[in-house]
Amino acid sequence: MVLIGSIRVFVRVRPALPEELAASINEEKRRKKWSFGFDNLFDPSHSQEDVWEAAEPLVQCAIDGHNTTLFAYGQTGSGKTHTMLGDSGNEGIIYRSIRKLFGAKTQIEELSKGGKIVSLSVELLEIYNEQVRDLLSTKAGGHETSLKISGNKAVGSINQPVTNEAGVFKILQRAQKLRTVKATSSNATSSRSHFLFTIDFCVTSEDGTKQVGKLNVCDLAGSERLSKSGANVTGRGALLKETQNINLSLSNLSNVIEKLQNGDKNVPYRDSKLTMLLQNSLGGNSKTLCIVCANPLQTHFHETLCSLRFAAKIN
Ligand code: ADP
Ligand code: MG
Repeated sequence: MVLIGSIRVFVRVRPALPEELAASINEEKRRKKWSFGFDNLFDPSHSQEDVWEAAEPLVQCAIDGHNTTLFAYGQTGSGKTHTMLGDSGNEGIIYRSIRKLFGAKTQIEELSKGGKIVSLSVELLEIYNEQVRDLLSTKAGGHETSLKISGNKAVGSINQPVTNEAGVFKILQRAQKLRTVKATSSNATSSRSHFLFTIDFCVTSEDGTKQVGKLNVCDLAGSERLSKSGANVTGRGALLKETQNINLSLSNLSNVIEKLQNGDKNVPYRDSKLTMLLQNSLGGNSKTLCIVCANPLQTHFHETLCSLRFAAKIN
């Protein structure tokens, strides 16, 4: 399948959770209406499978040799992690992508009767407070160490060769646990950091030529504004700094994509760590999918509107 244009924007509104349903009964409907146009809209009745079906062509682009970036945007609790990672038995995009990539590896190698070799490798980074950390580090305190960026690479980060799905699933689960442990120990929840999963898909032909595709899947930090994050309360300086850093990198991400969409030559990649790392995977021949996640409740109306405006800006 050929995708025309380089960016897709989907919106996914998650169902109200049981405890939210009771609270939402007396919500008043808003009279004013806003209209937006997106490539896909998923309402609470849509499943992980439905979202995957729409996202799958983008993963195919990585197999075909493009740099591809999929990211989830939205306030904390809007369904980003559910969409990207999901739960066992109800997996999100990352797990399904991994399966597809290994399926493609087998198929390419079989069709070429061993003439082509496909190798895959994984990198797992976290950006917290504009510091890049390696979630694959096995050194003591390794994932607390801030890595420098040179060009678009985190210096010294691990690029782990992987040979099967199960191996990647294990790596992911370990990294997720690490994020959770850190969240409780530092009192910062995982939603305050960007989670960046990258898998390289390299096809080497008999004559030694290589075709490399890259898939980046990004579970972004919550996009809520200062007032909602509780960060404006006196004495919460650290939280304030965190929120400012998140806001900075998210607004930089939208600036970068907007400038690329407009064909602007001056793209401010170097203004935040996230866009530095994604520099080769946004714009040019690369493909991007943004899934904006939204909470269905009226109480979250303003945050949802902000997220939709973000989506409209880059679409
Ligand atoms: P975020 O990562 O944006 O903070 P989560 O993915 O953790 O949000 O979702 C918040 C809660 O809503 C979780 O309990 C999650 O299981 C649930 N949830 C999110 N999306 C869906 C969905 N589409 N269907 C059912 N439950 C969902
Ligand atoms: Mg999350």
